[in-house]
Amino acid sequence: MKLEPIPMPEASISERLAGFSEVNQGYSEELAQAEAERCLQCKNSPCVEGCPVDVDIPGFIKLIREGKYTQAGLKIKETNTFPAICGRVCPQERQCQERCVLAKRGKAINIGYLERFVGDYLISHPPEQTERPALSGYKVAVVGSGPAGLAAAGDLAKLGHQVTVFEALHRPGGVLVYGIPEFRLPNITVDNELKELRRLGVEIRTDVVVGRTLTITDLREEMGFAAIFLGLGAGAPIFLGIEGENLPGVMSANEFLTRVNLMRAFDEDYDTPVQRGRNVTVIGGGNVAMDSSRVALRLGAESVKLLYRRTRAEMPARVEEVRHAEEEGVIFELLVNPVRFLADDDGNLAAVECIRMELGEPDESGRRRPVPIPGSEFTMETDQTIMAVGARVNPSARLVLPDMEQDEKGHIIVDPETLATNVPGVFAGGDVVVGEETVIRALGDGRRAAAAIDNYLRSS
Ligand code: FAD
Ligand code: SF4
Ligand code: SF4
Repeated sequence: MKLEPIPMPEASISERLAGFSEVNQGYSEELAQAEAERCLQCKNSPCVEGCPVDVDIPGFIKLIREGKYTQAGLKIKETNTFPAICGRVCPQERQCQERCVLAKRGKAINIGYLERFVGDYLISHPPEQTERPALSGYKVAVVGSGPAGLAAAGDLAKLGHQVTVFEALHRPGGVLVYGIPEFRLPNITVDNELKELRRLGVEIRTDVVVGRTLTITDLREEMGFAAIFLGLGAGAPIFLGIEGENLPGVMSANEFLTRVNLMRAFDEDYDTPVQRGRNVTVIGGGNVAMDSSRVALRLGAESVKLLYRRTRAEMPARVEEVRHAEEEGVIFELLVNPVRFLADDDGNLAAVECIRMELGEPDESGRRRPVPIPGSEFTMETDQTIMAVGARVNPSARLVLPDMEQDEKGHIIVDPETLATNVPGVFAGGDVVVGEETVIRALGDGRRAAAAIDNYLRSS
């Protein structure tokens, strides 16, 4: 048996930096077969325990080995609605692949790459359509079209309910389209999944801000929705609250990425303005920081420095994104924290003053706490800083339903089993409940909520 993992074919560095096309090229059938052959088909399948939605990993890999790609895709879809998306963006090295018995030798099966292979196969070879289920007579509203909302909508439609998704932005997909860049997750992949939802009869209405354009009372009383799922996400950026953060040149990753990804500022056919910095600094160490750095490089920055207050080992970003960012030329300034931003004579951002850090005792997250080293301040020139230090629930979530219970950070409080809020018939899931998390976690919430909503409707 071949023991070495089969690497993902990737675009060359020069191809990557020349545009926004996808870096990972996907396995060919031959490569997928070779990787699937390495799987030991473990009886106790520890890899499944690492997957938040319990994908039957040995089961779908066995079907790949047998050349039954459609069945392999359908096997994944039993628990994961969007394999082509999750195969691309799940932090596999901390989930399914971390638990693979071969991980100890550094040779874990590339489960994500195989999942992407069959997800893409299902898109290019759509399976025969199953009959749409008989209508239940109930209408369900889904607010927010991120992975939580879309997964809920799909399952509810399959259960026979008439589903309408309301999305504030002009394009559905949530972070999948406004946050994660094309070179990691092409929008066409998301559009293909949306096609399937529409085929199931899901209506998607964009440019509707629930709480403003329409109220929950409108949805219930005027439009007849018997239940509502809230998948509002956590899209409000966090800033550090340090001096100079309001200078022109300092912006949130959320704004920067939305302008580029959703509003296509990189595309000459669009007139969306976006600052293209020369010496860009990005603050943070997660996926959002990696995405922002790599986008800045593609927009023509001469230098992109990523400032992170811990070390590489504590970076929350996917390992592949960290590697890609570094290969593409992002410079990591580790154990460094910004203290204040400095302006030039015209009042624009000119530099960031930083302090060096060292790691102390672990904090409540279990990671070692970064501690400033007194007297180690230094200044770094920069004409654009992108803040990627986290996001929180938008305070406007309160407007959606004033009676709904939220914690002090704005997260909607739900029953952990059913995801029901304190308002009868209203359920919530995804980042709006747990804070910034992962696509697969949000998707799992959407599916759980759909089952609970079905139960609620049929027993009410
Ligand atoms: P979202 O995806 O945030 O969707 C919420 C939607 O609700 C939005 O479209 C919003 O416009 C809409 N909405 C909000 N309020 C209203 C309203 N009142 N009316 C109508 N619509 C409303 N996770 C990973 O697993 N892997 C990654 O590689 C990864 N990379 C990321 C990169 C970036 C740049 C970001 C920002 C996040 C990343 N994440 C990643 C995290 C992941 O994308 C989120 O955890 C996930 O999208 C949360 O899904 P959601 O459905 O809860 O919310
Ligand atoms: Fe792994 Fe994500 Fe697929 Fe689960 S959904 S098997 S965690 S890639
Ligand atoms: Fe295959 Fe690894 Fe899962 Fe075993 S643990 S079934 S080798 S993927």
